Amino acid sequence: VAKRLVCSSCRKSYAVREPRWRCQCGSLLDLEFLPRFDLLKIEDRPPSIWRYREALPIEEDGNIVSFGEGFTPLQRLTVAGKEVLFKLDYLFPSGSFKDRGAALLVSKLKEWGIRQVVEDSSGNAGSSIATYCARAGIECRIFVPRSTSAAKCSQILACGAQLHRVDGSREDTEQAALAAAEDTFYASHVWNPFFLQGTRTFAFEVCEQLGWRAPGTLAAAVGNGSLLLGAYIGFQELMQARIIDRIPRLVAVQAQACAPLVHAFDKGTSDIPPIQKQETLAEGIAVAAPRRGRQILEAVRRTGGCFIAVTEAEIQESLMEMGSGGFYIEPTSAAAAAGVKKFLLHHTPPGPVVSTLTGHGLKAPPRQFAP
Ligand SMILES: *Cc1c(COP(=O)(O)O)cnc(C)c1O
Ligand SMILES: [Zn+2]
Repeated sequence: VAKRLVCSSCRKSYAVREPRWRCQCGSLLDLEFLPRFDLLKIEDRPPSIWRYREALPIEEDGNIVSFGEGFTPLQRLTVAGKEVLFKLDYLFPSGSFKDRGAALLVSKLKEWGIRQVVEDSSGNAGSSIATYCARAGIECRIFVPRSTSAAKCSQILACGAQLHRVDGSREDTEQAALAAAEDTFYASHVWNPFFLQGTRTFAFEVCEQLGWRAPGTLAAAVGNGSLLLGAYIGFQELMQARIIDRIPRLVAVQAQACAPLVHAFDKGTSDIPPIQKQETLAEGIAVAAPRRGRQILEAVRRTGGCFIAVTEAEIQESLMEMGSGGFYIEPTSAAAAAGVKKFLLHHTPPGPVVSTLTGHGLKAPPRQFAP
C-alpha cells in the first residue's frame, strides 16, 4: 500500500515524497499507510521506539534521527484504592513524551532534505524539536509564549536553537511561527502528521509490555491531543493486525482553567466552543483552540470514554503526592494523575488502567521547594 497524505477536509491526497504540512485548502493532513508488525522481530530488537521499524514510515534507515529513545517503564501505583499502570514518559532524552513525535518528524525532515525549520510550542514540543534538530544538524527557530518555564527556554537555547519569546497567548505564538514559516518549513507538532506517527509508539509499547494485550482504559492529559490521538491510531492498527482484540476506553484530562474539549464533550457538539482561558499550572495543556479537536472528541466518543476537568488545587495536590512517592514530574503531568484519581473515585473502568507521566519535574521545578 502506497503511503499518502490525505486531507481531513477535502480528501485531496499527496505523495509523501514532497515536504508538506497542510493541504492546499488549508486543512490538516493525515498519513495513510499500512504498518506491519512482526512480533518475533520486534522482541529481538533493542528497547526503543525503533523496534517497531516496519510500522514507522521512514523510508531509509540512514535518515533515522535517534538517541535510542523509548520503551519507557510501566510502573504500578495504587490510586483511589485501585491499580494504575503509569508509563514513565518523562524519561525521554528531552524530558517529555514529545520525543516520540519529534523522533519521527525530524527523521522525516532529514529524509525530505530540509535544512531549516520553525516550530511553536508551550515549551516541551519546542525543546523536543530543538533536541532532535540538534542531533540531525537542522537549524531551528522555536517560538514560545513569554510565560514558558525558564528551564524549557534554557533547554531550547542549549540545543543551539534560536528562541523567540512572544508576548501574548499560546495562540499569538502560533501566529508568529506561521508568519516565520512563510520562507522556511513549519515543523509543527500539531499540524504535521509525522509527529502523530511517532506518538503511536505509545500504544505499541504499552500493548507489548502487557504481553500484547490492550489496556481496558487509557487516561492522559490532553492539550492538542497528540499523545491521545497517536495512541488511538496505534491501538486501531494493532487491532487491525489482530494483535489486540479491543480499543481502550479513552479518558482525556484537561485543566478546568482551559478546558475547551470538556465543554464540547459536555455539550455533545463536535465544534469546539471559544473559551476564556485562565492561568493554569498545567502549561503543557493550556491550549484554548486545539487544531485536532474534532478528531480528539470523535476518538474519545467512539471508545465510550469521557473527559475530565481538574482544578488547580487538584493538580497541585497531585504534584505533591507524586513527588513524595519519588515521581518528580512537571505540573502538566500531575494533571493526568489528578484526573485518573478523580475518575477512579467515581468509576470502576475496565482494567488494566494505564496512564502516563508525560514531563519531567526539572522542566518546571515547584517554587515552594526553592532552597
Ligand atoms: C504537550 C504535553 C502534554 C499534552 O500533549 P498534547 O499532545 O498537547 O495533548 C502533556 N504533558 C506534557 C508534559 C506535555 O508537554
Ligand atoms: Zn484539503
